[in-house]
Amino acid sequence: MDHFPIFVRTQGRRVCLAGGGDAALAKLRLLMKTQATLVVFAADPAPEIEGWAGQGLLKLVRREVQPGDARGAVIAYAAHEDEDADARALRIMAGDGALVNVVDDLERSQFITPAIVDRSPVVVAIGTEGAAPVLARRIKADLEERLPATLGRLTDVARGFRARAERLRHGAPRRRFWADWFELDGPRASGRGADLDAALGDLLDRHLSAAPRAGHVDFVGAGPGDPELLTLKARAALDRADVVIHDRLIAPAILELVRREAMLVEAGKEGFGPSMAQGDINDLMIRHARKGRHVVRLKSGDPGVFGRLDEESGALEAEGIAFAVVPGITAASAAAAGIGRSLTRRGRNAEARFLTGHDMKGFADQDWTALARPGAVAAIYMGKRAARWMQGRLLMHGADPATSVTVVENASRPDAVTVAATLATLPDAVEGLDGPAVILMGIAPRDTAAIALPVPAGALRQESAR
Ligand code: SAH
Repeated sequence: MDHFPIFVRTQGRRVCLAGGGDAALAKLRLLMKTQATLVVFAADPAPEIEGWAGQGLLKLVRREVQPGDARGAVIAYAAHEDEDADARALRIMAGDGALVNVVDDLERSQFITPAIVDRSPVVVAIGTEGAAPVLARRIKADLEERLPATLGRLTDVARGFRARAERLRHGAPRRRFWADWFELDGPRASGRGADLDAALGDLLDRHLSAAPRAGHVDFVGAGPGDPELLTLKARAALDRADVVIHDRLIAPAILELVRREAMLVEAGKEGFGPSMAQGDINDLMIRHARKGRHVVRLKSGDPGVFGRLDEESGALEAEGIAFAVVPGITAASAAAAGIGRSLTRRGRNAEARFLTGHDMKGFADQDWTALARPGAVAAIYMGKRAARWMQGRLLMHGADPATSVTVVENASRPDAVTVAATLATLPDAVEGLDGPAVILMGIAPRDTAAIALPVPAGALRQESAR
């Protein structure tokens, strides 16, 4: 350990910074999070620094640093990004007795600033002795993901509550109480925007009365398949789950992220294959939640898009079981992103529709007239089987057979397939695709590497005759 990590009190103390460019801005953004008296020496400061000085966030001295300026400073930064200017600032400020960091110069720095994960009052500092800043940033990103943004608030509330929690027996009872707070009740209460003091009080009452832990169901959007498209909340829910009931479409890479001890149940429920009856899924969620477990109902994409969310949450409501919904990236967004296009565009379409190719009765009926208009954009889910039928409907309502249609199978996954087609060739475009696919009507891909299907001879005539 070449550098020894410490946390320095900065409240009310002087911190000096010499320089006024980009490096100075980056450091100041960090330093402004402290309670230090910040003094910046810059002959030519960036406008942001002038702005912060105007707001009273720091003190700006419009000249280069001089001997005596850094006297009494707890730390100081030379941030000119210029070797000579920084060498001079280092000499002057060190001469004043300050501990000096020269930005991006490990050799000359007397201390280094770690990568920081700020969940004040919880602060994690990560250092690699300057050897691998990229690695430090990577660790930081991992930690950011693991430590919910609300951790700071949860800790603050907990701090004021320690004495009351002493009514619980020392050891396991108290440990379980705090584990519930930081892992379950706290994140949930802050997710709901609830009063955290009151929530902590409720939790303590529950623990004191030894009432069984209340179960809870999180409906979690798993996104289109790429694990990196999971939200941080989804990751946290998978990390905490006791039971995960998931659809068949969920990628194995995402199931890998589920807490090791959790029980995994596949419920089927996508497309036309065999699946658990809806009633059985509801019963399963209710049964586990009643046992006080944290149940995650993991659904592909966004649970609120063709995900039967209301049916399942309604069943929980009827039983008085609490639930929350964590949104996810829906297939249409992933498909559009994958082909480098947007779902709406100024001057082309002020609305984009999400359609399903089939509903409970079979093929789903739609507002075909609106969909057939030039410029109309729709993302069609579960549309492969209905492709020919939909094509017929659209052409019958006057849609242009040359309308661009892009089919994206396995959007966001390594085996994604994009088929650029037109309304005329739509049925051929979905032929042979057996993964989940979304049909983007009215959008052509930007990617020239996409597979362009030639318009089969006679296709136009044949399809429009339907
Ligand atoms: N709730 C999901 C949709 C569930 S319905 C969401 O918001 O995305 C299932 C349909 O979603 C599939 O038939 C397919 O049309 C579409 N879908 C799901 N994942 C997909 C993916 N990775 N690529 C393309 N389409 C997908």
